[in-house]
Amino acid sequence: MKTNPVLEERALALLARFYGYRSFRAGQFEIIDAVCSGRDAVVLMPTGGGKSLCYQLPAMLMDGCAIVVSPLIALMQDQVQGLVSNGIPAAGVHSNQPEDYNRRVLDAAFSGKIKLLYISPERLLTEIDTFGRLKVSLVAVDEAHCISQWGHDFRPVYTDLARIKEQLPGVPVMALTATADRLTRDDIIAQLRLSAPYCFLGSFDRPNISLKAYSNPGKKERLRFIMNMERKYPQDSGVVYCLSRKGAEDTNEALKALGVRTVCYHAGMTPAARDAAMQDFLSGRVNVVCATIAFGMGIDKSNIRWVIHNNLPGNIESYYQEIGRAGRDGMPAEAVLFYSYGDLITRRSFVDESGQKAINKEKLDRMLAYAEARVCRRRILLSYFSEERACDCGNCDNCTNPPKRFDGTIEAQKALSAVLRTREAIGLYTTVNILRGALRADIRREGYDRLPTFGVGSEIPQDEWVDYINQMVQLGVFEIAYDKGNRLKATPYGMKILRGQEKLVLSEYVPPETAKNAKSKKAPAPAVSQNPEEQLFGYLKTVRSDIARMENVPPYIIFTDATLMDMAKRQPATIDDMLQVSGVGEKKAVKYGRRFIREVRKFQGLSASEGAGTSLKETLILFNAGCTVQEIADTKNIKPDTVYSHFAQLIDRDLITAYHAIISADDFKTISSEISSNPTGYNDVLKERYRISVVTVVRSILAAIERKREQMK
Ligand code: ADP
Ligand code: ZN
Repeated sequence: MKTNPVLEERALALLARFYGYRSFRAGQFEIIDAVCSGRDAVVLMPTGGGKSLCYQLPAMLMDGCAIVVSPLIALMQDQVQGLVSNGIPAAGVHSNQPEDYNRRVLDAAFSGKIKLLYISPERLLTEIDTFGRLKVSLVAVDEAHCISQWGHDFRPVYTDLARIKEQLPGVPVMALTATADRLTRDDIIAQLRLSAPYCFLGSFDRPNISLKAYSNPGKKERLRFIMNMERKYPQDSGVVYCLSRKGAEDTNEALKALGVRTVCYHAGMTPAARDAAMQDFLSGRVNVVCATIAFGMGIDKSNIRWVIHNNLPGNIESYYQEIGRAGRDGMPAEAVLFYSYGDLITRRSFVDESGQKAINKEKLDRMLAYAEARVCRRRILLSYFSEERACDCGNCDNCTNPPKRFDGTIEAQKALSAVLRTREAIGLYTTVNILRGALRADIRREGYDRLPTFGVGSEIPQDEWVDYINQMVQLGVFEIAYDKGNRLKATPYGMKILRGQEKLVLSEYVPPETAKNAKSKKAPAPAVSQNPEEQLFGYLKTVRSDIARMENVPPYIIFTDATLMDMAKRQPATIDDMLQVSGVGEKKAVKYGRRFIREVRKFQGLSASEGAGTSLKETLILFNAGCTVQEIADTKNIKPDTVYSHFAQLIDRDLITAYHAIISADDFKTISSEISSNPTGYNDVLKERYRISVVTVVRSILAAIERKREQMK
């Protein structure tokens, strides 16, 4: 597609100035270009792909105010906070704020003071009649999959968003989502009445997220694993997704008992309790959230380093979206899936009760196939989103540790025979108990201890048997009778194996990483062997935490991990250097730059302030960013007189021409007329009222004006 080079230059300038980024990611500018030329657009990018910029930049490039429809208050607040901290006028209207505040926001928008207005769909629909008064540049519908019943998060109120096109004809509408399947996409276009939209389908690959799955880890093992993850990333956060509210609560309590700083989050909590939990998590007061799927849509926390699914999710779309919350800064992150036989049963019962049984069953089967897969997991996920890959990813458990296979025919025969001898009256765990020869009360009561198969598999540990029988279910050796207490039933294929007519290949059991062996492999390297960059990165994080605490905002609002990492690499010495760091825009360079530079200098063994005030260029940057003399002096830790003397030098070089920003017209007049009428004694007169450094500035201004006059001649 041919794009507009003039627009691109302007867009890149804004990108650098406000976000501190040097280039667009694939697709971003084409989308911006399309929207700026008035076209509707559909943007499909995975979580963390960079969707927000696709409407934020057009909002800044176009006249008027952009409306951003967003279903979640937490998301809105986060985005607004992020924008404001970068110096972009944005605000939100939602039910979590006093109504008079909302009104003030709307008034500010009407009077043209806001470039991005975030609003809930409900509120948009009640306000949209009044938007005739507002110059709307574009409407962005975030999480647009909520409009579709095909999607996994249908919200009825979204279906009324068709009114946007009626009420605001001619305004470009963008739909953005991380859900990619074709049905949902077509539905979005139809329901929002988009006309010939520009469609962008981004790559769904998130190569920085490593993928792992473990079948049937015990409860203790799971908890230890989670605890270990928290220790591995003590400065960062993680999410534990549980299937039920109770599961989330129990896991939360159990982790707390192990000393993990965690909160619980699910839809059964009061809104106030949920908000408090969210704030604790976003602010970093806790490291872990144990949650149901109610948690997370639109969570823009860049330092989530891991997501663990404590139970099998219902479909791959949800799963991929949930793990996509990790590693949004592009740095390495981990996704770990635990799944068990019990999960499968619960999920199957959900499917049976659901409206779209056939679709949901199919989706669950695909999810299960992923969980049990012994091939590259990323290839499975990407192929699900129609993104075929020719090579393995090298960053999933199956790639790094390819499973060994073995002939499991004998094991299958033992299991089949145990099941058949009970006349198919038992489920998975009883089967395992019989095979292992466990003398439990229920086994005795049923007389199973007298079966010839009792104890024939005692050499194989419990967890292993559970895994093998699960594989057998997957491979079609057994069927599960959901309507009969989940008993195992031998299939015709199973009968053939039993009779020795077929062989069965199983994958060897891989135990989950326990705290002990995880420690030997995974424990974070001790401080001494850390490379210097990592060490500095750690110090910079501490500075960030301090600032975040002072300002009472989440740390990633100050800078993301990726930004701090780049800072650690570049080790900036001046504000100018600071602006070269990816993710540092002008506003933040000015506001926070010094604090971080000081830390860098300390790390380099230099005194914190030495050399700090010497850069003229730095003063210019601060001045251009709108800082007052006092602010510049404070930031650079120099005297106001020095700042004025910098100004004088900058004016001499014609690098500052906005004189009015330095001195008022009245003062300028007073000083300049004294200089011209009293050329030998003006200093003595003026020093009563003005700093001599200010007088010097005026002399420089007068000289500059004279130079210009000469040039005009
Ligand atoms: P999404 O909304 O698609 O989930 P975001 O818009 O929140 O993703 O972007 C994810 C992260 O990537 C953010 O930290 C954002 O600042 C960063 N990002 C977006 N575009 C760029 C870019 N062109 N260069 C560098 N970082 C970017
Ligand atoms: Zn792989």
